[in-house]
Amino acid sequence: MTYAVASDKPAFVQEDLATPVQFLKGVGPSKAQVLEKVDVRTVEDLLLYFPREHQDRRVVLIHDAVPGQKMAFRCEVNAVDFLRSGKMLGQARARLSDGSAEFDAIWFKRLSFKYDVFSAVKRDVVPGRRILVYGAVEMGENGVELKVEDYEPSFAKATEGKEPERIVPVYPLTEGISNSWLRSLMSRVVPSSSAKMADPLPAALRQKQQLPEYAQALRSFHFPASWAERDKARERLAFDEFFLLELALAINRNERDQQPKGFSYGIHKNLLSPFRKKLGFDFTPAQTRVINEIFRDLQRPMPMNRLLQGDVGSGKTVVALSAALLAIENGLQVAFLAPTEILAEQHALSIARMFGNLPVATSLLTGSTPKPERKRILSNLRDQKIQLLIGTHAILNDDVSFQKLGLVIIDEQHRFGVRQRARLLAKAGQPDVLIMTATPIPRTLALTIYGDLDVSIIDGSPVGREPIKTFFSPETPALAQIEAELVQGRQAYVVFPLVEESESLSKKSGKIVQAATKEFERIQKRFPGYSVALLHGQMSSEEKKSAMDRFRSGAISVLVATPVIEVGIDVPNATRIAIYNPERFGLSQLHQLRGRVGRGPHSSACLLIHEADTVNEAGGDRLAIFCAVQDGFRLAEEDLKLRGPGEFIGEAQHGLPFFRVGDLIKDGLLVSRSREAARSLVAGELSLTLKEFAALNRVLQKRFGTKLQLSRVG
Ligand code: ADP
Ligand code: MG
Repeated sequence: MTYAVASDKPAFVQEDLATPVQFLKGVGPSKAQVLEKVDVRTVEDLLLYFPREHQDRRVVLIHDAVPGQKMAFRCEVNAVDFLRSGKMLGQARARLSDGSAEFDAIWFKRLSFKYDVFSAVKRDVVPGRRILVYGAVEMGENGVELKVEDYEPSFAKATEGKEPERIVPVYPLTEGISNSWLRSLMSRVVPSSSAKMADPLPAALRQKQQLPEYAQALRSFHFPASWAERDKARERLAFDEFFLLELALAINRNERDQQPKGFSYGIHKNLLSPFRKKLGFDFTPAQTRVINEIFRDLQRPMPMNRLLQGDVGSGKTVVALSAALLAIENGLQVAFLAPTEILAEQHALSIARMFGNLPVATSLLTGSTPKPERKRILSNLRDQKIQLLIGTHAILNDDVSFQKLGLVIIDEQHRFGVRQRARLLAKAGQPDVLIMTATPIPRTLALTIYGDLDVSIIDGSPVGREPIKTFFSPETPALAQIEAELVQGRQAYVVFPLVEESESLSKKSGKIVQAATKEFERIQKRFPGYSVALLHGQMSSEEKKSAMDRFRSGAISVLVATPVIEVGIDVPNATRIAIYNPERFGLSQLHQLRGRVGRGPHSSACLLIHEADTVNEAGGDRLAIFCAVQDGFRLAEEDLKLRGPGEFIGEAQHGLPFFRVGDLIKDGLLVSRSREAARSLVAGELSLTLKEFAALNRVLQKRFGTKLQLSRVG
């Protein structure tokens, strides 16, 4: 920086972006340790430690107070009173005036036996003194009042009109740092250091997008002079986040598109036609459209990377199998991956049934395939005596190799990690990839998580499917209803929300097994004439398989299960599912569970078990939406709003950058804009100077380990 700045703030002459925060005035080793906990090590990190919100602390008159808003007032204290407002809750109530009007300001605090929680208020809020108060304006019994969130005591004349009477940043905190401390540190660092941050966006792009300069945006986002300035800064910083991700995705996509897959397709129909004939139903228009999209991709020289989204029961499997048969017709091998052994088994069974006597050699490979059989399968794969391999992660093992792997189908992708996907792709040069997911993903999220994929959607379900009645019920009538179904020969699921931890956490899993077993015994007693079985994630694969087989064949009437049954289990004779503690599930997960019934001709229902007094408010609203809405996509949107993106991204999606400023719920438009900008940049539509391009590449490289090719710079 220039000396003009340095002479203003001599303590910062040496400071640059890489300076450890420890050396900043007012930080020191112990505060630096606290900052490290939130990944702030250097001045640059500090600049990028963004506020989670802003508060308007510009003083207004009491006369202009607006109920429902948060506002700041500069007042004189007229009187103060301390009351109890509950067993453990106390309040301080001060009468304040500012010449325009007067009102009550109230501090609520949880009382303590150990000390006086109001000691600071008693010290600072004294009749005759002046204070600055900030909080929520509300309509009370005696007119407008203020619920105090923060206050500044007895400020002297000298500070009047200065801090903090402006829009102030509110930072995410960790133990050991307070907002006012961080604010004051930021107010010293941001103005002097933000100009040193290189603007990653090329000027031409920034202007085209009508976004402010980077340094300006950084300053404004920490300390905006107005809400408009804050919004503009936020837009810029959020755009950057989305844009960098979309650019990385666009570059990957572009690179992929440079490498032909090395095999070609023709449409012969010697397998496809008999398959369709044997199905006994026609494809729905949505299925036909998606099959066409996939077939078009397959016939291109570059590999397909397509995400197939469709609600539970929308008929994705037959679509995927059509693609598989086309690949096989063309002399290629196909791998079909399922996330669990149960599902892989089930796919193997139903595929065998649907293929009938089509000349397609199919095998199943899972972790529990016996050694000799496994050996035979591996050798047959290498000799291309197997054309379709169905399986679990076991397919990813290093010793599994195909002679001519052309197509990879991944079912229920969100249970699969991105890393596993990469490992699979490494097996074959450039196979076509079709990923299926039954957890509908909201559009903005799909654009970011799966931004490098093309998306196909099957909307609606095959004709003649009734909605699954969904309602709350106490346990006793719910179980009675299940019994009535059993009497008619139907079957049912009873689900307990025992979270499946990873198998290595043996202590926890011991507890889960115990709890599941206890519930199981209780349910078993309730249905004495029927056979009841238990299914949980800690059982061996043989035990699971045996329970599923017997449930499928009807030998078992009631399956008591943990959420392992969430994905894909298909038993058309099951007509009731009872879910205990439904408030512990996400909407999308509940929707998956509900999809276990309603798969056959009988009318079905989903019973959310709760006793009248146990449903909490928030959970209740969420669940009411679930009862009313059958459409998985709408539920997914609701889930995103209510629970954030974690639900969708989950563990499997490690490595996905999370957004500090960008908000996947509010910023749908910004995501599309950034995606378009990224694609046009990759396509070389903007001509850039080398210099402009350098800052962008540095950030891209740092964050994603990828770069735009220099040859694309005009
Ligand atoms: P999902 O999308 O959940 O994987 P599936 O592919 O398992 O759905 O299909 C659910 C059921 O609907 C299966 O029994 C399947 O045979 C049947 N199905 C699929 N497509 C049609 C169709 N066009 N008409 C009638 N039934 C269909
Ligand atoms: Mg399925």
